[in-house]
Amino acid sequence: MHCVTLIPGDGIGPEVTRSARDIVAATGIDLRWEVVEAGMRAGNEGGHPLPPAVFESIARNKIAVKGPTQTPFGDAYPVQVGEQIYPSVAIALRKELKLFVNVRPARNYPGIKSRFENVDIMIFRENSEDLYIGRERMIDADTAEAVKIITRGASERVTRFAFDYMQRTGRKKLTAVHKANVLKLTDGLFLKSAEKVAKEYPAFAFDSRVIDALSMELVIKPETFDSLVLPNLYGDIISDLAAGLVGGLGVAPGANIGTDCAMFEAVHGSAPDIAGQDLANPMAMILSVVMMLRYIGEGAAAERIDAALAAVLRDGRQVTRDLGGETGTRGMTRAIIEQLNA
Ligand code: NAD
Repeated sequence: MHCVTLIPGDGIGPEVTRSARDIVAATGIDLRWEVVEAGMRAGNEGGHPLPPAVFESIARNKIAVKGPTQTPFGDAYPVQVGEQIYPSVAIALRKELKLFVNVRPARNYPGIKSRFENVDIMIFRENSEDLYIGRERMIDADTAEAVKIITRGASERVTRFAFDYMQRTGRKKLTAVHKANVLKLTDGLFLKSAEKVAKEYPAFAFDSRVIDALSMELVIKPETFDSLVLPNLYGDIISDLAAGLVGGLGVAPGANIGTDCAMFEAVHGSAPDIAGQDLANPMAMILSVVMMLRYIGEGAAAERIDAALAAVLRDGRQVTRDLGGETGTRGMTRAIIEQLNA
């Protein structure tokens, strides 16, 4: 039996994780969820936004599924773990669990309207350093500073992971993304490290793009890209852009992977504007769980869920409003389960 830690999270998190749980249950595989709370709700209810029980559960199970957690703007919400202060629960988890890469696929699904066809991009976002870690301070009352750290070790590790993943999944070409023309030392090191690792994988095509040029090319001819490897902050931004190419945030899944454990979560946030209204598209969370099932060796169940979801999308009626349908989170979930049982 598999035991998987589940963090429902904030906003639409409980709704979309409920959907994914019901769908996994309908496959009949032997999987138990260990539910632990983290996020703004957990913090507001008098507890800690990221209590030790979360780390204990993940240490036991090695696999976690996480709903989005809300991070208010401003300085109201530092997340403390031991001596460390993090800007958000998601960042604290990725950093503390040493989840060094964030894998975010963006691909077209038949039935989902988008501006492009044949988009199938695998994004490998470095997850442990760069500006995104949020190491900031006020130098004086009118001046703020953020520190950008890039290391050879982390840059080589994420590039190697990308090539190994591509090898297993039949991908052909990796593009390293940077701004090394201006950030000559930090992004320069990222680029050099990626180029060095690329030489170890001569069977793959490899090239690089400056982040601004890549952004333009992605919105003109996204179908020409196969896989991207990026430093943390560019990876965060470009994966939302890539989600927009294939139908929006409601359809984009993700996996955070480390050497000891892995945590699967959608790209989207807690969407407070639609929370609790049965409006959230559960697809990104369902696809994150599909990635999790493949990771734990339940490939057959993953394929069945993927096929059931694809059938519901092709039919186009039992999908949420962001996909042009009339139903809600629960209706779309029921339709997928009906397909699974058909
Ligand atoms: P968001 O992704 O929550 O929402 C952006 C827009 O997309 C909203 O209009 C929302 O309604 C829509 N949307 C998002 N997911 C959807 C879905 N599944 N179905 C239908 N529509 C969906 O981004 P935001 O508003 O910038 O952030 C809200 C909160 O989430 C913030 O506190 C942010 O810090 C947090 N956040 C958390 C994570 C995480 O936990 N990994 C990731 C991103 C944002």
